[in-house]
Amino acid sequence: MLDKIVIANRGEIALRIQRACREMGIKTVAVHSTADNNLKHVLLADETVCIGPPASVESYLNMPAIISAAEVTDAVAIHPGYGFLSENADFAERVESSGFTFIGPPASAIRLMGDKVSAIQAMKAAGVPCVPGSDGPLGDDVDENLKMARDIGYPIIIKASGGGGGRGMRVVHAEASLTNAITVTKSEAGAAFDNDIVYMEKFLEEPRHVEFQVLADNHGNAVYLGERDCSMQRRHQKVIEEAPAPGITEKQRKRIGERCVKACQEIGYRSAGTFEFLFQDDEFYFIEMNTRLQVEHPVTEMITGVDIVREQLRVAAGETLSIKQDDIKILGHAIECRINAEDPKTFMPSPGLISLWHAPGGPGVRVDSHIYSGYKVPPYYDSMIGKLIAHGGDRDAAIARMKNALAEIVIEGIRTNIPLHQEIFQHAAFQAGGTDIHYLEKRLGLV
Ligand code: ADP
Repeated sequence: MLDKIVIANRGEIALRIQRACREMGIKTVAVHSTADNNLKHVLLADETVCIGPPASVESYLNMPAIISAAEVTDAVAIHPGYGFLSENADFAERVESSGFTFIGPPASAIRLMGDKVSAIQAMKAAGVPCVPGSDGPLGDDVDENLKMARDIGYPIIIKASGGGGGRGMRVVHAEASLTNAITVTKSEAGAAFDNDIVYMEKFLEEPRHVEFQVLADNHGNAVYLGERDCSMQRRHQKVIEEAPAPGITEKQRKRIGERCVKACQEIGYRSAGTFEFLFQDDEFYFIEMNTRLQVEHPVTEMITGVDIVREQLRVAAGETLSIKQDDIKILGHAIECRINAEDPKTFMPSPGLISLWHAPGGPGVRVDSHIYSGYKVPPYYDSMIGKLIAHGGDRDAAIARMKNALAEIVIEGIRTNIPLHQEIFQHAAFQAGGTDIHYLEKRLGLV
């Protein structure tokens, strides 16, 4: 097994990774910015290295500082968590060329999936269903593009191949706006992502977001751990996630899951990964792959009993996955609420001192959070301060447990989005399950 690893992240996910390491007897090095001396995992780490000032570009995105920290502490591997450098192929490459193991997929797979046009081409080759579209980059021939859009049928969406985080996309409702939309998206993409390749897809109007979790090792083994529904979103940010996705049949799960596994094998994938789909009218359409551990991985862990981080660590150590597809059974239902330090109405960040913290508990309740009474949430990073996860025998039981947990949790001193979660759990549409990705914004009167 790995002897000692660097956790190149912060907050709840750094603590989550550290917990897995401790169970497995792996020592941890917490690298942190000057704003993060008091993070829980920093206080609990075997060793700590301050890698720079608060600004992420100078600390959590500072590749030489992170790699030097691994060198001076004699660590053997680096876990990037999510966000920050987790999907940066150059970082993965530099980690490996410096003699350390990158706890994630090979740089080549990150690069392939980071470019949407090449990702879609690889998925099509593996038989993964994709959105009807241009089958590659759009050229300059105006008539050809007009014909393509007409064949696909409006509305369509123009997307930047190098886009991410919901940026670099433009919806076109009518032919008159198409040519201009392509030109503008191309020039914006060139400026923002240094890559002006754009492509065309059918725009799905009322899709759900359903994603498949996979795990793969270096010995040709890959499994799918079922799917999650992450349709409850605001500004492309997930707010609530659940597993399994309401209404998905075992047959659909198997069909899509097996194709995701095949895709992993074809692209030489390893470690944890997620295939994101839009789901509409009972059809799945691949949109992108996330080549990292995800925020919402706990709901999958709760219903499968598989520790995804533990599997990542095993794979990084060169071992085989500890589970086979036939071992994976879905037990009950799990829901996760992302707890953010923000105003529940205006969504303005609300950093500051947590004067009182009381964690909820009881059967089936899991809290993944680094906060404690007296912890000061810094203003420099993402506002998510934890995740509340409830598991039950079925969806209604999970909802009942989450309602209890939301009533029990206490966070004083800062504002949080807990009141928003409490409200959503009262909605009849949420209780029924299967709302689309626009539901929350419409319901909040934001669109
Ligand atoms: P990013 O990498 O920026 O997250 P995605 O391809 O995952 O880009 O798309 C982000 C979001 O944009 C999706 O979750 C969905 O809400 C919307 N979107 C993307 N493609 C389509 C499409 N073909 N039809 C409808 N909505 C889409």
